[in-house]
Order: sequence, then structure tokens, then C-alpha cells
Amino acid sequence: MFEYLNGKTILVTGGAGFVASHICDALLEAGATVIAVDNFITGRRENIAHLEEQENFHLVEADVSIPTADYLDVFLDQMRATAPEKAKIDAIMHFASPASPPVYQEYPVETYLVNSLGTHNLLTYLEKNYPEARFLFASTSEVYGDPAIHPQKEDYWGNVNPNGERSCYDEAKRLGETICGVFTRKFQLDVRIIRIFNTYGPRMRDDDGRILPTFINQALQKEALTVYGDGKQTRSYCYVSDLVKGILLMLSKEGLAGQTINLGNPDEYTVLETAVLVQKIINDSVTQENIIFKNLPADDPTRRKPDISKAIELLNWQPEVDFRTGLAKMIEYFK
Ligand code: NAD
Ligand code: UDP
Repeated sequence: MFEYLNGKTILVTGGAGFVASHICDALLEAGATVIAVDNFITGRRENIAHLEEQENFHLVEADVSIPTADYLDVFLDQMRATAPEKAKIDAIMHFASPASPPVYQEYPVETYLVNSLGTHNLLTYLEKNYPEARFLFASTSEVYGDPAIHPQKEDYWGNVNPNGERSCYDEAKRLGETICGVFTRKFQLDVRIIRIFNTYGPRMRDDDGRILPTFINQALQKEALTVYGDGKQTRSYCYVSDLVKGILLMLSKEGLAGQTINLGNPDEYTVLETAVLVQKIINDSVTQENIIFKNLPADDPTRRKPDISKAIELLNWQPEVDFRTGLAKMIEYFK
């Protein structure tokens, strides 16, 4: 399925993060050499500790918002001395960015830089050095903002506040997509964009503030679950192994240059339903005391669900792990 990956050298930015550490695992399994770049702003070394001894895995500790000459050229020069046949870039998967709303709001400058300047720097590097390489940009369902159409299809342009608390992320991802489009049209690079919807699974941080790690952690500690607003807002959750399969297909398949594709699980839940389900799985019961309501954060999207017909058609991909099964695996990890 992933023949393209065998023997390729792939740069994964944000490689120590939740999603990209799973991508590193899958790339190595498919026979690729992986250069993971991370500055550990939100990622954790333990996510990739099991890979550090592998011959085909390389970790570069750097900020991908700085010029590539300052870290990538330096690293590839070293690699040329030890493994010259692998010292090249066949593809870049740009996943570096804080992704949790409270965390990107704590690091707004870092967040807009990595998605804008970081994307520009990496694409400029490819254009100069490896114009045949592929570039995959991890965009997000957040580009749809608080969507006026439901479910969200790729041709919907979104409803985004350009100057609100979430804008450092939403608008930076939108600019990242713009930069991808420029390098596709003006420089004919093979650039692919995925819009990832809420994803969950092992290696998420229990303190990262996103809904599922927060609820699972609270339920395990026998604390009340903090539901924001009235809990009627919806999200659709994709288990990480499903997402990673879709991502590798997006990178590997021929003929997808210039495409933008939603990746997510269309199974939709309200936040309150999510809280009840987590309580039931972990504590077997739900009472009024173990759910508390708190203020809804600014610009919190009221509903979100991907239309994945394009992924089904072009990638022959759809998620397989149902929510209960995925939650059970994540809960095991959190225990
Ligand atoms: P994460 O915070 O676990 O991982 C991000 C990684 O990027 C971390 O290891 C972090 O240290 C690293 N990083 C951030 N800025 C960096 C920089 N300037 N230089 C080098 N490394 C840097 O988040 P995640 O959930 O794994 O998300 C990964 C990507 O997927 C992000 O681009 C995010 O926007 C996108 N995404 C994720 C979801 C989701 O539900 N998980 C949804 C939509 C989009
Ligand atoms: N949420 C919540 N309680 C929490 C954390 C999040 O009710 O402790 C809600 C949040 O307001 C949003 C949804 O859960 O409506 C998903 O939030 P998350 O931060 O995971 O990511 P988002 O999808 O908003 O980017």
C-alpha cells in the first residue's frame, strides 16, 4: 500500500508530538528513513524514545521557523559523511505546531510563525534543493472556523474570526494553505494539504487541555468533568491509527499534487454526550455531581463534522476504529 515510502528519506516536522510520533513509527515500518525535527515546545521526548536507537531514525532538535540553513543543511552535511545515499529529502511532512486551543493561545507568536514562516522556509528549501520532492501540510478543520455549512466539505471557505483568540492558529493555518498554493502554482512543487479533524489516542498529553485527555484524566482522578458552555457543541473524533493511515496514503499516492483533503471520522457527538460516555466507560455511572459546566471559550465552534467523500474517492480511505474502542485504548494508555 505504501511502496512509495520504501527507501525514501522523509523530514517530519513536529516529530515528537502526538500525531507525528505515530507517523514516524509508520514511516519506519514502511522502510523510510526519518529525520524528525522538533523543538519540544509541546512534544515529548518519550514519544520517540523507542525510536532513538533505530538506524533509520534521526532526531534534530531545532525550531522549524528559523532558516533551514541553520539546522537542516548542517544535519544533512553530517549525514553525508555517514550515510550519503540517505542524505537527501524526498518529502517533507510539516506537522510542527501547537494544536490544543489553550496551548496555542499561550504560544500565539510561535504558533503563527511555524505555520506561516515555517511553511514558507521549508517550501523555499525544497524549491531550491529538491524540486521533485513532495510536501504535505498538516492543516486543520479549524480553517472552517465556526462553520455555516454542515458537514464541512473541502470547497467550503469557512467562517473564521481574523482577530480573535483562536486566530493565531486558524488564520496561520489558512495562510499556510495559501503558501502551499503559491508554491504549487508558481513553482510547480508537489504540495498536498490535509485538513485534520479532532484526533485522539495514546501519546496525547494529559495536561494539554483538549477535550479527551482532559475528560479521561478527570474521570480517572474521580474529579468532575469540565463541560464548557451548555455542552451542545459537537465534535467528531478520529482515532490516531486511522488518521495515520489516511496521511500515509495522501503522501504516497500518485497524482495528488495540489489536492486538499479532509481526514477525520464523521461520527459526531455533542460535548455533553462525550462527557457522559467517558464517565460511563471509566466510572460506570454518571451523576449530576461528576459533570460541571464552565464558561464557553471565545469563538468555540458550535459544530464540526467532516464530509469525507473526497478521501473515500481519492484515497479509498475511511476510518475503521469506532469511538468506544478507540477510547478504551486511550484510557489504557492514560492509566
Ligand atoms: P502536538 O502539540 O502533540 O505536536 C506538535 C509538535 O510540533 C510538538 O512535538 C511540538 O514540540 C512541535 N513543534 C511545534 N512548534 C515547533 C517548531 N517551531 N519547531 C519544531 N517543532 C515544533 O500536536 P498534534 O496534535 O500532534 O498536532 C500535530 C499537527 O497536526 C499540528 O500541525 C496540528 O495543527 C495538526 N492537527 C492536529 C489535530 C489533532 O486533533 N491532533 C487536528 C487538526 C490539525
Ligand atoms: N471542552 C470542554 N471541556 C474541556 C475541554 C474542552 O467542554 O475541558 C470543549 C471545548 O469547548 C470544545 C470541545 O470540547 O467545544 C473540543 O475542544 P478541544 O480543545 O479539544 O479542541 P477544538 O475542537 O475546540 O479545537
